[in-house]
Amino acid sequence: MRANKGITIIGAGLAGSLLAIFLARRDFDVSVYERRPDLRRQDLPAGRSINLALAHRGIRPLKALGLFEEVRKLLIPMRGRLLHVEHGRLELVRYGRTPAEIIHSISRPGLNRLLMDAAEAAGARLLFGQRCDDVDFHSGAVLFTDEATGRRQVVNAAPLIAADGGGSAVRQAMVKHLDIQVTEDILPHGYKELSIPAAAGGRHQLEREALHIWPRGGYMLIALPNLDGSFTATLFLANRGAPSFAALQEPEALLAFFQKEFPDALSLIPNLQEEFYRHPTGMMGTVHCPQWHVRDRTLLLGDAAHAIVPFHGQGMNCAFEDCLILDGCIAEYGDDWEKVFAEFTRLRRPDAEAIAEMALENYAEMRDAVRDPKFQLQKQLGFLLEERHPGRFIPRYSMVMFHHLPYAEARRRGLIQQAILDELTAHADAIGQVNLLHADELIRRKLGDTVGEA
Ligand SMILES: Cc1cc2nc3c(=O)[nH]c(=O)nc-3n(C[C@H](O)[C@H](O)[C@H](O)COP(=O)(O)OP(=O)(O)OC[C@H]3O[C@@H](n4cnc5c(N)ncnc54)[C@H](O)[C@@H]3O)c2cc1C
Repeated sequence: MRANKGITIIGAGLAGSLLAIFLARRDFDVSVYERRPDLRRQDLPAGRSINLALAHRGIRPLKALGLFEEVRKLLIPMRGRLLHVEHGRLELVRYGRTPAEIIHSISRPGLNRLLMDAAEAAGARLLFGQRCDDVDFHSGAVLFTDEATGRRQVVNAAPLIAADGGGSAVRQAMVKHLDIQVTEDILPHGYKELSIPAAAGGRHQLEREALHIWPRGGYMLIALPNLDGSFTATLFLANRGAPSFAALQEPEALLAFFQKEFPDALSLIPNLQEEFYRHPTGMMGTVHCPQWHVRDRTLLLGDAAHAIVPFHGQGMNCAFEDCLILDGCIAEYGDDWEKVFAEFTRLRRPDAEAIAEMALENYAEMRDAVRDPKFQLQKQLGFLLEERHPGRFIPRYSMVMFHHLPYAEARRRGLIQQAILDELTAHADAIGQVNLLHADELIRRKLGDTVGEA
């Protein structure tokens, strides 16, 4: 007979479902309360981040649980950014130095369904249509409302792990009852999802194994491939000003904007108007929360603790890495939750701040810098220096996407490397003009040891 200790998770999204598997495999009696209906039994609302980029940090926890072979069936490799520069010209900027250094497009609902099935198979109990409304951090009582019937119930739910996303109700309860000062930096830009359907026979209409970007300076359109031959495109644009979502309220303005800025994409999006006005304009922002846990009662994890803007494609990857690190803390401290939660917070907060910064910086890179010849020269030089100094000089993008050294360390080394690249390319327009002996000396002097990854 199992006499397992109970634990409650709020949210059966990407992080909550994955965490449920980790905890159930450690023989906890896991209950997951999810606000929405079971997405395995219904269609998802249109226009909400249909696909995502999965990278090394997200893959590691999946491998640790033996789930990656199943997940692999949902993946489309993306080898680089395919830039649609003005006048329809295409340029591929590869992501990594080696063919193995790629990221993958994956369907969000497809992955979420797989994780929910695996969580139930591991013994977790998933309860749907249950909205968490409030938490009493002294007694451990949680107030839930059944979304279908409106019936309210109070459940004794300590310890409680909140994986209820960027708008976390649990975090809001911490603000309300514990007087915590949370900052939510909302980006003045929003996003809109649009679809590029498959061509006849399920063929992709654009290069399949790439992340497409139409960089236009202050804004951009991107598109990620789906397995059915379609692409999900996302327009990132200012909410106000010119151009902006506010300025595109009339169909004529929308059409003129696409004709001028994205003529090749326009011909691939047959339902532009209908989708543009039906799909919601999504909000993006960064959550800075100074406290992630309440004694041994409650922990925030994933977007609930540290939502970030999506431009490094790391929100889910980071949330998955959270689950692996929390599992490591449990391996060390068992069910001494106060120690587990405190250690998790100590390990993860500096990293969450670092990836939040890097994600914001990446917006400027994707929509603008990628077009700059200096940026492309530095990218090329970065790969060359990595080849000359393996494990010591690793381009920052690669440290974030293809390695798992802590984000804060990636950011710290990235800043030193950027200074080195700036110095080396200050008077160079081509790789042949870079003084590589000076580069070697700078790297040895400024970067010190190679990075150690467990
Ligand atoms: C446009 C866009 C593109 C993105 N692209 C990428 C990408 O390419 N790569 C990447 O790694 N990340 C990406 N992200 C980020 C990624 O979506 C999030 O970081 C990730 O979903 C976080 O997982 P989570 O489980 O913490 O939160 P969520 O996925 O938001 O899950 C939260 C769950 O909690 C439930 N919930 C919410 N409130 C309650 C409540 N009160 N009671 C009960 N349940 C509740 C929700 O219904 C949901 O199921 C992107 C985000 C956006 C907006």
